[in-house]
Amino acid sequence: MEICHNCGLPEGALRNPGRTASVTAAAQFGDKRSRRHSVWCCTDECAIQSLAISKYGKSSFRWPITLAQFRAMNPLEESRKKRAPNKAYLERLTTEKSVEITY
Ligand SMILES: [Zn+2]
Repeated sequence: MEICHNCGLPEGALRNPGRTASVTAAAQFGDKRSRRHSVWCCTDECAIQSLAISKYGKSSFRWPITLAQFRAMNPLEESRKKRAPNKAYLERLTTEKSVEITY
């Protein structure tokens, strides 16, 4: 039985099947680099929080962005595609705001 990486809820406690998230484990003593591994989370929200913690650390007051901003970056989509920050998506967001309509 899996236990949620973020909140510790056991699998099967909720009706939804949960999801896996690919988090980066903090570099251990002796490790030269951090390792990515897959963990199970009970909900998308727990998966997002797990990803944010793995990226920025447990002290959320030290994060460069808020959890809401992190969630807006669609981190679950990113991990599914296994790609670095989606530049095209962010550029589309900023350009759509400055589109001028001419007739
Ligand atoms: Zn959870």
